[in-house]
Amino acid sequence: MFKQMMLLSMMFFSLLTASGILFADADTAASEEEKDEEEERKEEEELDFDELPDALHPVVEEKAETLIEKAAEEDIDIKITDGFRSIKEQDGLFSKGRSLPGQIVTNAQGGESYHNYGLAIDYALEVDGEATWDLDYDGNDNGESDWFEVADIAKDLGFEWGGDWDAFKDYPHLEMNFDYSIRELQKEYRHLL
Ligand SMILES: [Zn+2]
Repeated sequence: MFKQMMLLSMMFFSLLTASGILFADADTAASEEEKDEEEERKEEEELDFDELPDALHPVVEEKAETLIEKAAEEDIDIKITDGFRSIKEQDGLFSKGRSLPGQIVTNAQGGESYHNYGLAIDYALEVDGEATWDLDYDGNDNGESDWFEVADIAKDLGFEWGGDWDAFKDYPHLEMNFDYSIRELQKEYRHLL
């Protein structure tokens, strides 16, 4: 009788363990699946340093399109006036107002702007088919500046807005830096720059 009881409790114990293992397995499987998804998402949002970008990063491009749509829902038409800019183009801009005539338009030399890595866009309002840089314009007549409304939508989408900068306000500018400073980007791409 005692032996039988022992046997029974052993069986019960092993059953518990077995189901415990089953549960543990299910847990691991679920968290591994989550991990895979997380990994995939990260990869999508990670930067590829094998080649120098020659276009907007796909995530930035997608968010730019969403921004246009969301602004339109608020009756605000916008235009993306600038996106990817090559290092050479950036150097050309930098020369304006310095070695070339005209007004200074940027403080960033080639490689110093998020535009050079496909991570920034500039927007303008589109009024009667024309790009407008009027910060006070309230075309949808809701008592708020259209420009700032667009900036708020962009920030909700994950963009950093140049209008929030303290030192130099760059109102048309939106960027996604993927947690990389310009210095870090220059370092990662240094073999290609
Ligand atoms: Zn910009």
